[in-house]
Amino acid sequence: MSTNYFKNYPDTEGFFEAYGGSFIPPNLQKEMEKITDAYYSISKSHHFISELRSIRKHYQGRPTPVYYCNRLSTKYGGRIYLKREDLNHTGAHKLNHCMGEALLAKYLGKKKLIAETGAGQHGVALATAAAYFGLECEIHMGEVDIVKEHPNVVRMKILGAKVVPVSFGLKTLKEAVDSAFAAYMEDPENSIYCIGSVVGPHPFPMMVRDFQRVVGIEAKEQFHDMTGELPDNVVACVGGGSNSIGIFSAFLEDEEVKLYGIEPAGRSLNLGDHAATMTLGTPGMIHGFKCYLLQDEKGEPSPVYSVASGLDYPGVGPEHCMLKDLKKVIYETATDDETIDAFYELSRLEGIIPALESAHAVAYALKLAKENPRQSILVNLSGRGDKDVDYVMETYGLPK
Ligand SMILES: *Cc1c(COP(=O)(O)O)cnc(C)c1O
Repeated sequence: MSTNYFKNYPDTEGFFEAYGGSFIPPNLQKEMEKITDAYYSISKSHHFISELRSIRKHYQGRPTPVYYCNRLSTKYGGRIYLKREDLNHTGAHKLNHCMGEALLAKYLGKKKLIAETGAGQHGVALATAAAYFGLECEIHMGEVDIVKEHPNVVRMKILGAKVVPVSFGLKTLKEAVDSAFAAYMEDPENSIYCIGSVVGPHPFPMMVRDFQRVVGIEAKEQFHDMTGELPDNVVACVGGGSNSIGIFSAFLEDEEVKLYGIEPAGRSLNLGDHAATMTLGTPGMIHGFKCYLLQDEKGEPSPVYSVASGLDYPGVGPEHCMLKDLKKVIYETATDDETIDAFYELSRLEGIIPALESAHAVAYALKLAKENPRQSILVNLSGRGDKDVDYVMETYGLPK
């Protein structure tokens, strides 16, 4: 891997080798090109960089710590460390790219942020960023999800966002994306579309990756300060792929560091019971970009499921698809049951309640630790689990 990695990927058309790109209607394409050009110039300006740095430090509470899990390591073996994105403001990594996208919107003179949300996590993070910058915020959400994710709907409204119910089709994430894109196209002059992960047409997979790189840059330095070395293994969960690419990006050129992306194996690996896109998907297209995709014979996205609603997406970021083909990252899975076990283990041995998404990474780290008792493992703990406690209690109860 050359030192020009971040210059070479994506290429000028937004491709990571065979994946990514931009396959959208011409009018939308024109707007995306404007955003791309603006991003390339603004994101390199001294003003932009220093304002983002200041926001990260004084508002988000960065750097988030790296923490050594003494009791967990004693029980499972290995040396397990967590990058504590659960301590980032709002309790997850998503605010890292939302603050970046909203800052870009401010520099572009936009008045309104528009996005879709599934479980509501992206909506809450974006509503937070909008409040900070004094921008309007419009979040499109399927009616089914509005009922399921009531606490996040309330949070968005308290933060001043307008929640737009989407009542066509299956009334979930896919329709919410269509609705948000349509709203954006009505007024691209004054608004900007803000995606929730390293997915969608160029330039989003690149922009979101760049804003999440802070996680890896911090973690690498902190881990080195604590141990004097590089971690043997880095583990992160993969939904769209933003928290994982954030931490992986700092280690792509370190051949001795093994990188693991963990997908949800859900209830089983039967169709509709999981969202293991890298493991079982084939090249296809969704939401204007090429990637590994869980799809039927007609190329329509398959139904997906995970106990962690932030991971149930049938596609995945294009950069991950390339890294899989290059064998630079190993993609594995964790089941719902393994995830729930890990959720309780981390809670009871360390006093840290993880998000169910992040608990997938913890579950795989525990396996690695048992198999490699002499090695170190750095886990990206992408978010805190407060949002999941009622669901876990009602569905699984306390561990026996
Ligand atoms: C949304 C979310 C994820 C999944 O998104 P990625 O883009 O794959 O990182 C993971 N963890 C938490 C806490 C989330 O909110």
